[in-house]
Amino acid sequence: MPSYKMTNGERVEKSVIDYRVRKAKERKIEMMMLEHGYVFCEEVGCGKNANCGEPIDCSHDISVDECQKMGITEWAWDVKNITMRCRTCHKIHDKTIIGHPLTKK
Ligand SMILES: [Zn+2]
Repeated sequence: MPSYKMTNGERVEKSVIDYRVRKAKERKIEMMMLEHGYVFCEEVGCGKNANCGEPIDCSHDISVDECQKMGITEWAWDVKNITMRCRTCHKIHDKTIIGHPLTKK
C-alpha cells in the first residue's frame, strides 16, 4: 500500500487518504446545504445547479495527485481545497490547471 507525505513529515496510507477525501467531500456538500439549501457550481459566472441537467461535482483546486506529490497530502481532505463545479467547469479546471512547478510533467 503506497503512502504519501504530509507537511509534518508523517506518511499516510492511500486507503486512509481515500477515506478522508470521501469524508471531506461529504462535509463540503453538507456545508453548502446548510448555508444555501442546495448545491451549485461555485465557479464565478457559472452557478449552475442540479436542475441544469449537469452533475455538480466535488472538484479539488489542487488535485489529490498533486497534493500527494508535493508532500502536502493533508490538503487532499481539506474542505477549503474542494470547490463544487458543474461537469463543464470541472473539465475546464482539470485541463487548465497549471500545477505546482515541482510536479509539472
Ligand atoms: Zn459551472
